[in-house]
Amino acid sequence: MIETVSELPALRARIAAWKREGLRVGLVPTMGNLHAGHFSLVKLAREHADRVVASVFVNPTQFGPNEDFDRYPRTPEADAAGLEAAGCDLVWMPSVEQMYPFGADHAVRMRVPGITDVLDGAHRPGHFDGVVTVVSRLFNQVQPDVAAFGRKDYQQLAVIRYLVRDLAFPVELLPADIVREPDGLAMSSRNQYLSAEERRAAPTIHRTLLAMRDAARAGMARAGVEAQARAALGAAGFLVDYAVLRDIHLAEPDDGSGARVALVAARLGSTRLIDNLEFTI
Ligand code: AMP
Repeated sequence: MIETVSELPALRARIAAWKREGLRVGLVPTMGNLHAGHFSLVKLAREHADRVVASVFVNPTQFGPNEDFDRYPRTPEADAAGLEAAGCDLVWMPSVEQMYPFGADHAVRMRVPGITDVLDGAHRPGHFDGVVTVVSRLFNQVQPDVAAFGRKDYQQLAVIRYLVRDLAFPVELLPADIVREPDGLAMSSRNQYLSAEERRAAPTIHRTLLAMRDAARAGMARAGVEAQARAALGAAGFLVDYAVLRDIHLAEPDDGSGARVALVAARLGSTRLIDNLEFTI
């Protein structure tokens, strides 16, 4: 059975032993309730490291006061079994007290300027502050040589790139492609909140992203692409936070050619889903 550690000294001892052997360590940060998307990150980290640590921690500082921290699904036994099968070597499952020794409300907080002002940063105030606050701790705790993050959280990956460069963390980031259900819905721990009817509507997000790509490639102006996407999502029962076309730095691009990303965040009932699609025009 895969080893799970919940106390920092035990984690440090295991990592130190690996480092003494000259082994490269990979980190896969997660909030648990793991699915094939997470396991693809473990596989990617394995390809670039000799030992892989997955962290499982539902991070209170990245949830807003009215968000789903309390009801976020917690399935530690299934997560450990899945991680073992995926080729992970160690599970780091700290308590809130281990992660935040002075308590989450008294933690040293961090903020990434600029890139967190838009999209999810604008719709979820403080969210990315919590993300960088916990990812910095994970980097200090695990001291990984490489760390895998999914492209599903496109803006998060951009924020973490900024963090690593700005704070000179000696970590190589490994971006992982989005893993989808057969009908196109991006895998997410939050999908299980969906009712049967909502689950049937959910793949509209991926279809909308594909339609945004096709319309942009066919020469439709950005404003038209975005309006069409909002209308399609609205017709399928979504409340749309954003449905936008951006350049790869999340700035508003001119109409014309180049690398693009279409991004959607939309709510079905109380469930908020995000997805994106990268392409070139
Ligand atoms: P979470 O547990 O939702 O915080 O996600 C942990 C990591 O898994 C993040 O780097 C996510 O981007 C990544 N991830 C989540 N879902 C997917 C997916 N469907 N495909 C690829 N990566 C994913």
